[in-house]
Amino acid sequence: MATTVNEFGRNVKEMRDLDECAADWFNDKTPNQWSRSHFTDFSKCDMLLNNGCESFNSSILEARDKPILSMCEWIIEYLMNRMQVNRDTAEQRWTGSFCPKIQKVIDQNFAELGDCIPIKSDNFHYQVSCHEGRQYSVDLKNGTCGCRKWDLSGIPCKHTLSAIDAQRLDYYEFTHK
Ligand SMILES: [Zn+2]
Repeated sequence: MATTVNEFGRNVKEMRDLDECAADWFNDKTPNQWSRSHFTDFSKCDMLLNNGCESFNSSILEARDKPILSMCEWIIEYLMNRMQVNRDTAEQRWTGSFCPKIQKVIDQNFAELGDCIPIKSDNFHYQVSCHEGRQYSVDLKNGTCGCRKWDLSGIPCKHTLSAIDAQRLDYYEFTHK
């Protein structure tokens, strides 16, 4: 779950202490393919899994044996129907500004606000201290936090929310569209 290069380094060292062979197995794999700590923050997606691909692949099983054009038509119809079903579901269940899963993450981060002590540096910058002894630099203007969770996902982490809360700002403005 490391989101910073420092944390990644500590975890790799810990893994090496536990099992040298396991750590060596990762040597020929570049970390930007399997560790959040090395992901770019451009996509605003911190997913490590390929569940989406697996799920799509299994749902088109029926169409995979068809000739290419028939398969494509089947997939077009499947996707068209699926997107409309999801739109209908969202209209019924989506009552807030964000989809329920994102709102849940924000609510969980808000619940951990007591762990953070924000110190204002200027109108956009905060130094946030946590009870575990770490400090994080939050830049509200550029959308970054030292923990990189906000940078990677676009969802304000607890450090960012503590800075937003300290300025009585709306977290909606700091959640990536
Ligand atoms: Zn953070």
